Amino acid sequence: MLRRGWLAWEWDPDEGPIQVLVGVPQPAPLTLEHGWLRIGMPGLIEEPHRAGYARAALVDWYVRRATSRVPERIAAWAEILSVPVPRVVICEPKKRWGSCHPSGVVRLNWRIIQAPARLVVYVIAHELCHLRHEGHGRQFWAALGRGMPDYGARRERLRDMGARLVW
Ligand SMILES: [Zn+2]
Repeated sequence: MLRRGWLAWEWDPDEGPIQVLVGVPQPAPLTLEHGWLRIGMPGLIEEPHRAGYARAALVDWYVRRATSRVPERIAAWAEILSVPVPRVVICEPKKRWGSCHPSGVVRLNWRIIQAPARLVVYVIAHELCHLRHEGHGRQFWAALGRGMPDYGARRERLRDMGARLVW
């Protein structure tokens, strides 16, 4: 069965829960229709494999969503924070929301896309600041605070809800 936690994601409150249609003739990508995220589960997938199939379909959905939505936000925040626009890679690290390589590559965990947009943007701004400041010293937080004065509240919120986004 689907784990309960899968229904609790938040990206946009207008988007509804997940509906699994069992027995569709062919594998198909997830669709968002009338507030329902629909997973078409081909009939030949037997019960023990359905949860794995649904997870893979959902992860694919979030990765595609991240790939289409994140670059625009990266560009906007690079401008706000006066840093060069980095290359972005969407990946699935075990623990981190994001990381930044000084060569100019920002990696983001697809899971962050489940969070409200203001927390997604916090992670983006945080990683962008690392293009200028390694580590989390005073200068790092000062630079982040200039572009995002309420970063502390966002950081705390992410800490509170973060565990729910990992599945
Ligand atoms: Zn950091």
